[in-house]
Amino acid sequence: MERAFYDELAEKSINGEIPSDALCLEMLTSPRIELLRLLDAAYQVRRKYTGNEVQLHIINNAQNGGCPEDCHYCTQAKSSTTGIETYPVKPDAEILAEAQRAYESGAYRYCMVFAGRGPSTSRIERLARVIKTIKSQFPIQVCLSAGLINREGVGMLRDAGLDRLNHNLNTSEGHYPSVCTTHTYADRMDTLKAARDVGVELCSGLIVGMGENADDIVEVAKTLRELRVSSIPVNFLLPFDGNVFSDAPDIAPVYCLRVLCLFRLLNSDAEIRVAAGREAHLRSMEVMALYPANSLFIDGYLNAKGASRSRTLKMIQDAGFTIKADQSLEHLLERENERGESLSVVNRGKPIKNLHELRPNFRERDIPRENDGL
Ligand code: SF4
Repeated sequence: MERAFYDELAEKSINGEIPSDALCLEMLTSPRIELLRLLDAAYQVRRKYTGNEVQLHIINNAQNGGCPEDCHYCTQAKSSTTGIETYPVKPDAEILAEAQRAYESGAYRYCMVFAGRGPSTSRIERLARVIKTIKSQFPIQVCLSAGLINREGVGMLRDAGLDRLNHNLNTSEGHYPSVCTTHTYADRMDTLKAARDVGVELCSGLIVGMGENADDIVEVAKTLRELRVSSIPVNFLLPFDGNVFSDAPDIAPVYCLRVLCLFRLLNSDAEIRVAAGREAHLRSMEVMALYPANSLFIDGYLNAKGASRSRTLKMIQDAGFTIKADQSLEHLLERENERGESLSVVNRGKPIKNLHELRPNFRERDIPRENDGL
């Protein structure tokens, strides 16, 4: 393909034009599409909307395991025998301490994640109190992932100050029954529409590598565009032993990059996050993800370890990008150096977080006498 083809791709994306399904499929699979030129087209769009900034996200696994659902990719699912550390909802003080830690680590956004099908009314009330306190104490964006929620529930969280609700579509409608049998694609769509209807920003993405084909990925990218999703985590499946999806093959780094470019070109002004599986699947091409994506996680994922914080910050600096935070990238790196953080990368060998990594602010006296049911 000639240079003009890629410039036109970028221009049409910026002008809000939607590429045909056939062209989207080509971007994912055709050898006629050159990776570097596709990355450049995606970067032209990324630069227009987000400059060279990278948003750092820190995820707080606020309740781990014991989920009655059976999402085949998830270590917290009832069907999983991965052997993660499990615990009920963390005490409020611990969640607040972790919000403070996230803010001081340069995170732009703090994401609280709760396992389960969806929150009860009493849990929503508690979450609303916690969100209100975080927002009154730290200038940080707050995102929540708590399963299926209706309009009334999201409305209460919005009133408490919730900035964004995360609920991933994960895959296409047709492929959904191969990924989960305890809830449906329609259930997930209902939650996203409820949040959109009450004016809460949407965060919703996908997991690549669950046996879907390229058409499924194009469908998800277009659906998220129609929903006006402002934040799109693009995950690459981490196939843990004990999960239903335990023997999924590696995803080619070039394919990962093509997927990220597709999401950028179809969702031009969205926050595109290169999310779980970044280190394992992109491998030596990891830094290239910063050209289509403008966001990533530091400190790993829900139950999976990721690269060390200093290595991720250094990668951003080495590539000439900056971060969107109150503190400079240089200051954060200096602090990590003082802490003696290594530049290690975590590979697929020992991927599960231990209790200290999941609960750095945990104190023995905080252990609830019994599960509070929230
Ligand atoms: S509902 Fe959430 S926590 Fe439960 S199995 Fe599915 S992804 Fe995991």
